[in-house]
Amino acid sequence: MKENAFEALTVETLPGRLGPVAAIAERIGADSNLWKVREVGDGNLNLVFIVEGEKGTVIVKQALPYVRLVGDSWPLPLKRSFFEYHALSRQAERAPGTVPAIHHFDEAQALIVMEFLSPHIILRRALIEGRRLPKIARDLGLFMAHTLFRGSDLSMKASERKADLALFADNVELCDITESLVFTDPYFEAPMNRHTPGLEALVKELRADRDLKVEAQRMKHQFATRAETLVHGDLHSGSVMVTDTETRVIDPEFAFYGPMAFDVGMLLANYWMSFFSQRGHESAGSREEMRAYLLGVIDETWNTFRNEFARLWHTERKGMLYDAALYEARNDGLASEQALNHVIHDIWTDMLGFAGVEMHRRILGLAHNADFEDIADEAQRASCEAAALKFGRHIIVNRNKIQSLAELDMLAQALD
Ligand code: ADP
Ligand code: MG
Ligand code: MG
Ligand code: MG
Repeated sequence: MKENAFEALTVETLPGRLGPVAAIAERIGADSNLWKVREVGDGNLNLVFIVEGEKGTVIVKQALPYVRLVGDSWPLPLKRSFFEYHALSRQAERAPGTVPAIHHFDEAQALIVMEFLSPHIILRRALIEGRRLPKIARDLGLFMAHTLFRGSDLSMKASERKADLALFADNVELCDITESLVFTDPYFEAPMNRHTPGLEALVKELRADRDLKVEAQRMKHQFATRAETLVHGDLHSGSVMVTDTETRVIDPEFAFYGPMAFDVGMLLANYWMSFFSQRGHESAGSREEMRAYLLGVIDETWNTFRNEFARLWHTERKGMLYDAALYEARNDGLASEQALNHVIHDIWTDMLGFAGVEMHRRILGLAHNADFEDIADEAQRASCEAAALKFGRHIIVNRNKIQSLAELDMLAQALD
């Protein structure tokens, strides 16, 4: 067998195999016989181990040559780990302190050793439990502004951005998952789709909706061709870990150069889905305040993102786009302001399209959200999901006409 050929780790083999890795031994203790290993992966794709030694704890995340959720009938290349590693490095530079620190990367074994986030829990879980996290809106608004602006031609040297774009262009298979599972499958009877039985009539209506099918494909067209910035690519509430005081973003294996609005749309879609799922989680008391909190989070996330993006526009716009030589240097601050407003307006509009598609695929496609799945009463779940489907349809098809967050808040409340 080839030396260092890929082999999936197990709880039993991990200490023996990673014992010699100095970067781990330094952090958690060199005697690997004392390591305690647990597999905690709850995602759809990869293995995740918590490795606890005498001195500390680390996370070991390893890709498998197939999709974990489906099994080896669906191969998926190991190189997604390479893209996750490189995306985490870029994000750490562009938005310091927002992602787990990387301790070690082994490309052949497709494994990343990283900081163990504790006592953080997955944001989606916290929202299902009805917890109101005070910092997520601000932290994630800033995370998106920093990573999306600083990874684009607004900020980077053109030669460096193009080299990076070429590196991430090889993340073909993960982009293909999004292109198929997110943008196309939900809109026809694709074999891996599933939905709650009570939704039959609405699903039929949506799949016959010509305007929706055209607009969803226009969003896919943007996703596949608009290589604006390094996006996280999977920024849902399962890719964020939180405490009351800290917010961290994990799992950027879908990273590629795509549209600015993609991450923003996916994140806000997950808040809207959380909003529409709250009625299904009222057994321990009313979720009225939680619903109001979530709409507030959506508003504050967008406003933080927009304001920080504008601040970076004025202070860090050193890339080749919207050259200051044409604007500020000629004392034409108004032109700069107008250009900025066009850019933000486009992100707003596209964000709505991506958000609507994300909501549809989580209810109609292969990968569902615990927000809805955890609602045991099927009729209740279908009713929550129906509201989310209608909201998604509205914001996709009408995205060019929607002007304000207030309008979206009212639409969400009217459908809920
Ligand atoms: P996948 O790509 O398979 O979705 P994730 O990176 O999302 O894998 O990780 C799966 C789970 O492992 C997360 O939901 C979280 O519970 C846990 N996890 C991942 N990274 C960390 C970390 N750095 N610290 C603590 N827990 C983590
Ligand atoms: Mg994940
Ligand atoms: Mg997960
Ligand atoms: Mg993942």
